[in-house]
Amino acid sequence: MNVTNTIEAVRAMRWQNPTATWGLVPTMGYLHEGHISLVRRARAENDFVAATIYVNPAQFAPTEDLSSYPRDLARDLALLQDAGADLVFTPDNALMYPAGFQTFVTVEGVTAVLEGAARPTHFRGVTTIVAKLFNIVQPTRAYFGQKDFQQTVVTRRMIADLNFNLEFIVCPTVREADGLALSSRNTYLTPPQRAAATVLSRALAQGIVLLNAGERDGDALRQAMTAVIAAEPLARLDYLSAADPLTLAELAQVGEMALLSTAVFVGKTRLIDNMPWPSLTAVTGGQ
Ligand code: AMP
Repeated sequence: MNVTNTIEAVRAMRWQNPTATWGLVPTMGYLHEGHISLVRRARAENDFVAATIYVNPAQFAPTEDLSSYPRDLARDLALLQDAGADLVFTPDNALMYPAGFQTFVTVEGVTAVLEGAARPTHFRGVTTIVAKLFNIVQPTRAYFGQKDFQQTVVTRRMIADLNFNLEFIVCPTVREADGLALSSRNTYLTPPQRAAATVLSRALAQGIVLLNAGERDGDALRQAMTAVIAAEPLARLDYLSAADPLTLAELAQVGEMALLSTAVFVGKTRLIDNMPWPSLTAVTGGQ
């Protein structure tokens, strides 16, 4: 496994064999089984796998956790080696945002709601850095997690609108045994907060139960899920949504499919989760 912080080294390895296929897994590090599931899928579907580790300042608001975001490069590299990555790109801020930098990629529409409404500058940071990583690595396929569902909608839009020549693959959310979606930010939780954090998946699962039982009223679904979160004293709801998985617009009535999603503060830690209905493959068109 090659580890590099230069664009030249990435390009040299990428183009050693121009006909080889490459899978790319962008991450912010502090890796867990969710990230590793993406690397494994990329490993199975490509000749070579590149992972990137970069905590991108542009996707954090000034009030957010950029300076405290957990980091453990040695451990990350060991996990990536075990999972079969061939190349790890670990750029620094001076390389990604050199003096004079003034070009940003902005996706409109689908960034206005949910995470985009709560974190207005977030997706501009994400799409800018993802576009740069796509241009640097030029992967055959890129692997993203369902955990950040809106990020997959926004990135898919950018790929189509800017004609990036790659296949976009969304992998299912990996969860703890009690339902909590794996996240680098779970490390911030105290033991009582960690116990309370199951409230996100419990609320969403309640919505899925209701959908499976025939409930189609958007407000009824949102109210039922909100009630689950309201019953957890350590949780404070940021938003809760039952939306169209393609447009992310709130649904008055659920038709063929829905994306249930929520953001919840547990203490100072902001957690997000989502569940697609009837299934991930149904709402992402089989990818
Ligand atoms: P991050 O390091 O949080 O930027 O995440 C890097 C990639 O891993 C993103 O595509 C995430 O959606 C994905 N990811 C994070 N957590 C999970 C999870 N629990 N299951 C599946 N993928 C995940």
